[in-house]
Amino acid sequence: MKAVVVEELGKALLKEVPLREMGPEDIKVKIDLCAVGGADPYAVTGEIPFRLPYYIGYQASGTIVEMGKDAISMGLKVGDKVTLDQHRYCGSCYNCRHGRETFCRTPGYGYVDSLMAEYGMVHQRQVFKVPEGVEMEEATLTEVIGAALQPLELAPFNQGDRVMVIGAGSCGLTILQLCKLRGALKLTVVEPLEFKRKLALELGAQYVLDPNTQDIVTEGMKITNDMGYDRVIEASGDSAMINPCIDLAARCGKILYFAIYPDHPDIIVPYDKLWFKELTIHGVFGQSHMFPRAVNMLPLLNLKPYRGPTFPLEDFMDAFDAHRTNKYVRVLVKC
Ligand SMILES: [Zn+2]
Repeated sequence: MKAVVVEELGKALLKEVPLREMGPEDIKVKIDLCAVGGADPYAVTGEIPFRLPYYIGYQASGTIVEMGKDAISMGLKVGDKVTLDQHRYCGSCYNCRHGRETFCRTPGYGYVDSLMAEYGMVHQRQVFKVPEGVEMEEATLTEVIGAALQPLELAPFNQGDRVMVIGAGSCGLTILQLCKLRGALKLTVVEPLEFKRKLALELGAQYVLDPNTQDIVTEGMKITNDMGYDRVIEASGDSAMINPCIDLAARCGKILYFAIYPDHPDIIVPYDKLWFKELTIHGVFGQSHMFPRAVNMLPLLNLKPYRGPTFPLEDFMDAFDAHRTNKYVRVLVKC
């Protein structure tokens, strides 16, 4: 089968590769659509280090074509439309048994991705039926929803708390929608691109700020009557946004650093600010156990406005180029 693979840094290829042999609890899926995920370009350049060869693709939907003989416990069957968790975990190592399967370290497991391909061979635990009424384009966003649930899981807030989300890509917009559903107040989105700011307003933001033309700390403090935000969620991946979070957070506020930063910045926090405000600073990496709830959330979120162009698998590089233009929230590859 054909799959997109990085064999040397800086270059991704569409290549004929063997599909992994089917285990008894595995399911073979014909991939329908796979998005260009935020991490994919960095995997090609090596800005996020992955072991090579690295098989691209972690946001995919498809159709079951074959079931392993023991892949029966999830109630799935051949022909089911499904969305796929790219994370294959062993279920028995120390971290898996402590509810942290994101950090599964058993060799051969982890973020194996490899879903920008004609087929996927995945464990039944990675396969979820697409809810009624959800289209395959939106089903590819399950991974995004799972990721967006994680900051709210790590630092849940109360109705009426003030929340700022920095960055309005697919993750930021999904975090925005989840915060809205949870009853966030003064819900503010920071985003340099005008079309994404408009989209954020459509999807529930009360305020939008342009960091290129506005001082986001000054404006954020005006919006919150000098109180600051109870939660500041940094989802832009722009390291210039890291320090303002510290000033934007309210007393006893929590800052969640969610994004990938290709320049691998340090975070330097003045101790007096941390101490006087009783700040909590949280990294957000994985999404252990989020996928089932992310699937449940698919019909509740307004995801169609994220849609951008779809490219055939042969033209996956055009999809990467389209992703880089920043003209679209989401670019898909038809596999
Ligand atoms: Zn494990």
